[in-house]
Amino acid sequence: MTTRYEAVIGLEVHGQLHTKTKMFCGCSTAYGLPPNTAICPVCLGLPGALPVPNRQAIALAVRAGLALGCTVRQSSRFARKNYYYPDLSKGYQISQFDLPLNEKGHLDITTSAGTKRVGITRIHVEEDAAKNLHGAGAGTDTLVDFNRAGTPLIEIVGEPDLRSAEEAEAYLRALRDVLMFTGVNDGNLEEGSFRCDANVSIRPVGQEKFGTRCELKNINSFKFVRKAIEFEIARQEALVSSGGKVVQETRTWSSTQEKTLSLRSKEEAQDYRYFADPDLPPLVVDDAWLAEIRVSVPEPVVARRERWQRELGLTAYDAQVLTSHPRIAEYFEAASASLERALGGKLSRDKAGKRVANFIQAEALRVVSTSGLDASFPCSAERIAELLALVEDETINGKIAKDVFVDMVATGKAPKDIVAQKGLAQVKDSSAIEQTVRDVVAKHPKELASFKAGKAAVKGFFVGQIMRALKGANPALVNDVLERVLAEG
Ligand code: ADP
Ligand code: MG
Ligand code: ZN
Repeated sequence: MTTRYEAVIGLEVHGQLHTKTKMFCGCSTAYGLPPNTAICPVCLGLPGALPVPNRQAIALAVRAGLALGCTVRQSSRFARKNYYYPDLSKGYQISQFDLPLNEKGHLDITTSAGTKRVGITRIHVEEDAAKNLHGAGAGTDTLVDFNRAGTPLIEIVGEPDLRSAEEAEAYLRALRDVLMFTGVNDGNLEEGSFRCDANVSIRPVGQEKFGTRCELKNINSFKFVRKAIEFEIARQEALVSSGGKVVQETRTWSSTQEKTLSLRSKEEAQDYRYFADPDLPPLVVDDAWLAEIRVSVPEPVVARRERWQRELGLTAYDAQVLTSHPRIAEYFEAASASLERALGGKLSRDKAGKRVANFIQAEALRVVSTSGLDASFPCSAERIAELLALVEDETINGKIAKDVFVDMVATGKAPKDIVAQKGLAQVKDSSAIEQTVRDVVAKHPKELASFKAGKAAVKGFFVGQIMRALKGANPALVNDVLERVLAEG
């Protein structure tokens, strides 16, 4: 009988805290600045320079802890993690070790198998290292950009509760949602502000004791996390099934070779000689500050999705799409509230919500990426509401609204101005419609005759002519009037 194996996975995630300045100095954290322009004696690690913790970074780290159900340690400690590498000029990284800021949290994930609670061991604060730019110098020289050194991070250490690559991906996505929607992290995987290490082991099904794990380093995409873990599980199973043994090591995912490769074994692992940082006093979060941070934690993104489904008529799919980024969520909420207000009770809340949801998904997200829906987007949420209100009161129809929207985005103008300037308002006055209908019919005696002779399709010809002459009219109204006129004789 062949042994069946089960995977055991635990993720360590690094998220950049969304602050303007670094963890222990006032240097900017802006992405993409020219190399070595956001640096100072503190983040360069010059002797004698003293670190001062960034209050906003600590508040965000506490907020992350609260949002993930952790217990906040009100007196935690910074520690030095010692190692030598060219991107770490101090010779140590300031992190937390035995007394981390947050502990014992959890995150609920949903996969095809249902919902499951995953434990979070701890969330601690630390600083990022600099960036080695290999081959950036003369010949094969490596240059170092210290702009990144000292960037505030949290490390979220997850319990080994995950059992498949699918669960690991779901966990990572759910975690990113929570951090993005609490304003802790911008969720930008490409810029490296959210990245993860995955620890993977296997054990025979039914065995309680964990197997030996491998750590997959620095994975920065959801797709790769899944592929790397799937590959690693298969590799370990093949190895163990053929009588081999998994050795504890650090591996990396090669996206070009589509496999994990060994970086270093446990024997080569460093002893970091952690000790409390003598330059930094205990990190104290007093009751008043903790209470202040607690009230600043926004509605959980999962609750928000559920509320939209309950109150705003959205499907689970709509709610998911509209929460793919906090900016689009804000935009949607503002636009639907605005439309509901503009129509003052004429349209129920769920109908207004559904209209806005459809329009944003079909039109707005076609012309702008979700993260681009910020203040620079030329069409505000209020303007979307104004546009949809024009459709609702039948000033324009849905098709014209799409064209007006394109114009709004291109010019930044208000919808009613565009409609007025381009003469797009539909004629709602039935006597004006009737006059045009009669004129058109009178001008085309041949077509009228063939209609009378039984060619019903000619009606379409008349509708086209009338709509063109009216430059936009309520089609149902035009149809009614035309039928009446044609029936007259
Ligand atoms: P380290 O400090 O060496 O990274 P930790 O004990 O802090 O080690 O564990 C780090 C991560 O590894 C955690 O996310 C944990 O869930 C996971 N982990 C621990 N043991 C195993 C195992 N046997 N298989 C898979 N993951 C594991
Ligand atoms: Mg680790
Ligand atoms: Zn600095």
